[in-house]
This record gives sequence, structure tokens and C-alpha cells, in this order.
Amino acid sequence: MRIPDYHVHTEWSYDAPRGSMERSCEQALELGLPAIAFTDHADFVTVNPGQYCVDIVGYLQSVERCRARFKNLRIHSGVELGEPHWFPEETRRVLSVGKLDHVLGSVHCVRIGDRIVDAGQLSKSPDVDPVTFAHSYFAETLAMIEGGQPFQTLAHLDYPKRYWPGYREEDFEEQLRAILKAAASRDLVLEVNTTRGNVICPSLPALRWWREAGGKAVSFGSDAHDPAKIAAGFDQASDLVEAAGFKPAAEPTALWRS
Ligand SMILES: [Zn+2]
Ligand SMILES: [Zn+2]
Repeated sequence: MRIPDYHVHTEWSYDAPRGSMERSCEQALELGLPAIAFTDHADFVTVNPGQYCVDIVGYLQSVERCRARFKNLRIHSGVELGEPHWFPEETRRVLSVGKLDHVLGSVHCVRIGDRIVDAGQLSKSPDVDPVTFAHSYFAETLAMIEGGQPFQTLAHLDYPKRYWPGYREEDFEEQLRAILKAAASRDLVLEVNTTRGNVICPSLPALRWWREAGGKAVSFGSDAHDPAKIAAGFDQASDLVEAAGFKPAAEPTALWRS
């Protein structure tokens, strides 16, 4: 069974020099995926130079060109909002173009003292304690959910894990359960993010907590910034999601549900 990939970046993301919407469609067809969602970055703060927010009008034209060209693939539109609760006006402007199929809410950065630190800087910042970072990260994630910005999917719940080999979900159980409870009460979808192949965010403990919190739906996202990475790690991720009590729907493009 093939699972749709609902978190993919293309040339419309500032950090995807290898991205390509067209080649991603070809790759998805080759893999036999029933659907794909392009969720390029709408970031308004970043520690990296460049243009951070997707040109949403140009992006949507590109989606339309791909839909016309790849008729056998379901192509969903989307966006990945970075820290939308910090930028309500910018978020509103991006979303004002019309209905997008997948709006992801993501935290990448936290404030530590008077600095803004991205989790990706953890390994290069010996002065930042990863435990402190993770606590701030989870507090920020809860604030994003409670901030009520209009996203439907909570992306990469424990993103710092990618950059911190010592991370264990159990050490942050209380904060993670609070986040999952808030997400369930908003009826959000929890994304299982497989960017790093063998680093799956979140893993089995938090997926079980998601079910216990009343979470109903799970999506799968490779977070590919390169067409070659589409749907990578989905076999392992789907085993975990199944072990936590979620099942695929009969309709192949639908989300997995409890
Ligand atoms: Zn992200
Ligand atoms: Zn992403």
C-alpha cells in the first residue's frame, strides 16, 4: 500500500535548491503514490539569509501547470507556516489567496534571551543547552496551537530531535501530552515527519499519547527538499502509526484515523 506524502518542498521554498515541483510529480507517479501535497515555506523569521516566504501566487500557478500535466496524480496545494502565532498579519496575507488543501503549522525557532535560535543551529551552538531549547520549543508549540492561527496540521511535533541525538520523548512527556491535548481539542491532524529516514518525528510513545489525548487523524510527510526523498521512511513510520492504533482509510488519499 502506498501512502500519500503531504509535506513536500519545491523550488518555491527558499531552502530547497534541489527542489522541483515537476520532478516531484514524476517521482510520486513512479513510486505509485495516490497523492502529493506541496507545502512550501511561509517563514517570516529565520537565521538564514534569503527570501523566506513562498511567492504564493507563482506557486499556485505552478501547481496548476502540474495538475494539467500530471493527470494521474492527485496534487494538493498547501503551505508550511513557520511560527504563525508570531506573524498573524503576514499569515493572513499568505492565506488570503484562497483555499489551500494542507496548511501546516510549524515551530522551527525559539527565543533564548534576546536571540532567536533555530533547532538546526543546536549542534553549532555549544552555549545553547538542548534541554532548555527543547523546553522552549514545546512551550512555543503549545502557544502556536493555542494562538488559534488557521492551520490544520501540526508538523514535526518534536523537531529538535533531528539535531539532538540525546533526545527522548519520555523526558518531555508532560509537555508533549499538553500539546497533544490542545491539538486534539482543536481537531488538528498530527503529522508524522520522516525527513531524516530513521529519525521519525514523533515516534511511538508520542503517537500513543496522541491517541490517548483523543487525537483522531495522522498524516505522513517526508519533508523532502529534493524529489529523491519523497515518501522516504514511510514504511517504518506506518508501522509505528499502526502500532499506536491508527488505520488507513479505504480511500487511498485520506488520512489515517483511530
Ligand atoms: Zn518544518
Ligand atoms: Zn517542511
